[in-house]
Amino acid sequence: MLVMKFGGTSLATAGAIERACAIVERARQRDPVVVVSAIGDTTDQLAAAADSDLERGRAILADLRNATEATARALVSEADADGLVARVRAVFEDAAELVGRAGSSGLEQSAELDALLACGERISSEVTAFALRKRGVTATHLDARKLFVTDSRHGGADALFEVTKQRLRAAVPPVLAAGAVPVMGGFIATADDGSATTLGRGGSDFTASLAGAALDAEEVQIWTDVDGVMTADPSLISSARSLDVLSLLEASELAYFGGRVLHPATMHPAIEHGIPIRVLNSTRPGGRGTLIVKHPPESAQVVKSVVYKENITLIDIYSTRMLMAHGFLARIFAIFERHKTSVDMVSTSEVSVSLTVDRSDKLSQILSDLGEFAQVKATPGKAIVCVVGERIRYTLGIAARVFQALEGIHIRMISLGASRVNVGFVVDEDHLAAAVGRVHAAFFPELSRPPGASQQ
Ligand code: ADP
Ligand code: ASP
Ligand code: MG
Repeated sequence: MLVMKFGGTSLATAGAIERACAIVERARQRDPVVVVSAIGDTTDQLAAAADSDLERGRAILADLRNATEATARALVSEADADGLVARVRAVFEDAAELVGRAGSSGLEQSAELDALLACGERISSEVTAFALRKRGVTATHLDARKLFVTDSRHGGADALFEVTKQRLRAAVPPVLAAGAVPVMGGFIATADDGSATTLGRGGSDFTASLAGAALDAEEVQIWTDVDGVMTADPSLISSARSLDVLSLLEASELAYFGGRVLHPATMHPAIEHGIPIRVLNSTRPGGRGTLIVKHPPESAQVVKSVVYKENITLIDIYSTRMLMAHGFLARIFAIFERHKTSVDMVSTSEVSVSLTVDRSDKLSQILSDLGEFAQVKATPGKAIVCVVGERIRYTLGIAARVFQALEGIHIRMISLGASRVNVGFVVDEDHLAAAVGRVHAAFFPELSRPPGASQQ
């Protein structure tokens, strides 16, 4: 059994959905279980509708519904079209109701917002099941909201694995045994209190690996729009190349520090259950992609990838009063815990603590809470850059090579992760492209441009 997950860009048009269905069809002998993201940028549109006033929100939904209906109609026979369009409309009615209920104040992070965002995967999974049937592949749509159970952290819930496993094991094997392909939406789930949840943006990858672990899949395939996990984000560094293999630990670090190609939680179930993950390009299905396993063969390449995360805020906290007082860090982190905001990097001195956060919706409350016992300064507009590779821990001089490459670029913070498979640093966003380009060129000189060409 194989889990095959298709991302939004792999489903952005009717043609792309047909291509994805052809990939599934070719894998028929391996019992594919299909997980789909929302079509194209549907989730962004739904989030924009939630964020807008009522009139604008309704207009966004109407445009999205028209585009989705056109895609749906292009994929199925005339006889099926009305049935599919009726299902699409029913989901859009739910979306319109949620936006209407929120009124002009928009939707905050909540079960309602999750229910709205879930509309994208509810639709794409129905559409994909119909499109598979059109090709003659028997497909059964499964409602992922009834299978995936999570805690109630709306906007980024974590799965309750045992109950999810039981449900998947009850629902999926009978479909396979009947000779059909199960198709379900990624990203969407239900909390143990019954409210709608999502697994966080990009969370369909996590759905796929949860399904793979629960069902003991031989492999989880993540079909996306690039040739696998690459030495850097190809949208920033055009000379980046794809990697043949990567360890699950490297992939985890890479995803956590911004390698958008995989959701950071994807690797957890795979590590625990020993399931390999393969990242593949849906526009070039013949490629080898990247295989991610627990123990890949030794590689001469120490650094595997240079990743980055934008929109970082650096928070400097000073307190001479608290100098070396025990409990100071605990007090600081309790505030982040209370506001459910995770911290990426930390560095301390005797009188100060600097740390980075990547979401700012709770920032003003966090700053005011910190301000009660320390002097605080927040600087937005930063980026984290991180080089990742398991062999960094055995290799001398990696940090020195990173910082040599960055000569002249102001570095605000440095971190060597405890797992010692990464070296990370913080720069101004203005210097991000130069920093990633220079570090990438330092570790992948064979990929860098010919002498004399500018390296940005
Ligand atoms: P999907 O819609 O398939 O989930 P995403 O947009 O979430 O696709 O992820 C794929 C994108 O991740 C690529 O288009 C690429 O720009 C970006 N990316 C960032 N870092 C990397 C990396 N190290 N290797 C590959 N892709 C990366
Ligand atoms: N559709 C969701 C998103 O855009 C989940 C995913 O694509 O993985 O974030
Ligand atoms: Mg993604």
